Amino acid sequence: MLFSELVEFYERIEATTKRLEMTDILVELFRKTSPEIIDKVVYMTLGELYPPFVGIELGVAEKLALRALRSVAGVSEKKAQELYGKLGDIGLVAERLLESKAQATLFAEPLTVERVYSSLEKIARTTGEGAIETKLQVLTGILGSAQPKEAKYIMRMVTGTMRLGVADMTILDALAVAYGGGKEVREAFERAYNLSSDIGLVAKVAAKEGLKAIEEFRIRIGNPIRPMLAERLSTAEEILEKLDGKGLAEFKYDGERMQIHKRGDEILIFSRRQENITAQYPDVINYARACIKAREAIVECEAVAIDPETGEMLPFQELMHRRRKYEIEKAIEEYPVSLFFFDALYVDGQDLTSKPLLERRKVLESITEVNERVMLTESRIVERPEELEEFFLRAVESGCEGAIVKSISPESLYKAGARGWLWIKYKRSYVSKMVDTVDLVVVGAFYGRGKRRGKFGALLMAAYNPERDVFESVCKVGSGFTDEDLAKLPEMLSPYISKDKPPRVESSMQPDVWLKPGMVLEIIGDEITLSPVHMCCRDLVRKGSGLAIRFPRFTGRFRLDKSPEDATTSSEIMSMYERQLKKVVEKPAEGA
Ligand code: ATP
Repeated sequence: MLFSELVEFYERIEATTKRLEMTDILVELFRKTSPEIIDKVVYMTLGELYPPFVGIELGVAEKLALRALRSVAGVSEKKAQELYGKLGDIGLVAERLLESKAQATLFAEPLTVERVYSSLEKIARTTGEGAIETKLQVLTGILGSAQPKEAKYIMRMVTGTMRLGVADMTILDALAVAYGGGKEVREAFERAYNLSSDIGLVAKVAAKEGLKAIEEFRIRIGNPIRPMLAERLSTAEEILEKLDGKGLAEFKYDGERMQIHKRGDEILIFSRRQENITAQYPDVINYARACIKAREAIVECEAVAIDPETGEMLPFQELMHRRRKYEIEKAIEEYPVSLFFFDALYVDGQDLTSKPLLERRKVLESITEVNERVMLTESRIVERPEELEEFFLRAVESGCEGAIVKSISPESLYKAGARGWLWIKYKRSYVSKMVDTVDLVVVGAFYGRGKRRGKFGALLMAAYNPERDVFESVCKVGSGFTDEDLAKLPEMLSPYISKDKPPRVESSMQPDVWLKPGMVLEIIGDEITLSPVHMCCRDLVRKGSGLAIRFPRFTGRFRLDKSPEDATTSSEIMSMYERQLKKVVEKPAEGA
């Protein structure tokens, strides 16, 4: 396939903001693409080369990319920089510069998708000594054969700024139509995606083997399964009512979720957002090898940091020290972990995701050899609110966040990639102070005053709206940050700085610095109110108003384990708001 054909599709996609139109264009593209390269085309459209869990990303520094462009276009550094300053988009700079010398490329051999992909692959995979020179050479090579429009997308891809606005969900829609005959079969495609976290693989299976293969799509060791997530409620009564009177209550440990894949002696560990974190946890690899008594298994656990002196569980924040890349051995000693297993998704050829919870738990028990460091989550069946209350207090007393109560009905399957009412969290803060924590995305920053002069003093935070794939502003938070937090903010936020308001951000408040959605912080607030300023759930409760969090404070938790799309959603904020309203209404007025 010629790269210019693909680029024509990108141009059409870029020209629309309507999801339906985008889907139609993608359907047309997929139908035109040979099954051999459909996975590559899908990744490239998302600005990637592989599924995210592979952990190899394109992210050539702009400076280097501009250097390659300059040598192909034959312009000075000053001219290229000036143009970049003016246009603010490296793709447009490339297009513009190559347009002025379009003649030269007329005779070059046309680029194919395969050639562009393998060049990008080479650029992404080259590391170590001389890597910069090699990357430069490869990039110059393809830019030298590129037409201006092709160069635009090559430059965007290579610098990790593709952003066509196509979400995974739109690709799934298009795949269902292109290979499954229509949107009615969308669910099967989504299931395959949830079981593999690899949309390119789903595309390839569909294109090569057809709908039946998608319907029969099987779990694969090595492909992370997208996690099942919990809803939340704030009283024991509500929880039990929602679960038809009965559920399995488990301690909700305050650690990092891990999905462990075992095949023989080979162990892989994936994070909640499907990153491969195996290298950070050599101790967990050993535990898994020794304690999982199955040849092949996919199990889930919460890894909790343990105080090596007292043996007590430590808060989640401590575990984030384990995210570092160096001196792992030292980190293992300083921050040892215990594993609390809570689910088994696949064991020795058997897909357990379609089995009810208690059955899965039984299998889990049968394959786990427990010891001081490896256990199953503390659990008990609860039927009465007092039982749940008592269990909850015990959990909190042991250093847990609260409890998570799970459905034990025959329908209590493992719903990969879904947040639902089969699991319900009951957290400490909900009952004690009547406040909720939320995980919000940083989308802007304000310079501080007084003691904070010259630093960032407050951040603009947003909730995620998955329906529209945008981040809606919901508060400006300035309290709760320690001096240490404030000192490290500029460095932590620098990769996300954006010259203009990022396209997926919605805010009428103008921060001093815009930030691309990337970092997630845990925020606690006093209440949720209607706000004329913020964009969260805009116009849904009242025309011209959104929802805002009043008196927000940073809890001290940088949620590095969450991607912006994992943040609290606008509709979750809406349901918190509605619940709060209900309580106010139910409470008799003073003196009434
Ligand atoms: P939170 O911010 O509350 O950690 P989350 O959005 O990361 O929530 P939720 O679905 O809301 O994820 O809560 C479930 C999380 O709780 C799981 O991802 C897991 O990490 C953790 N957890 C702790 N103990 C358990 C347990 N016994 N069963 C399931 N998940 C547990």
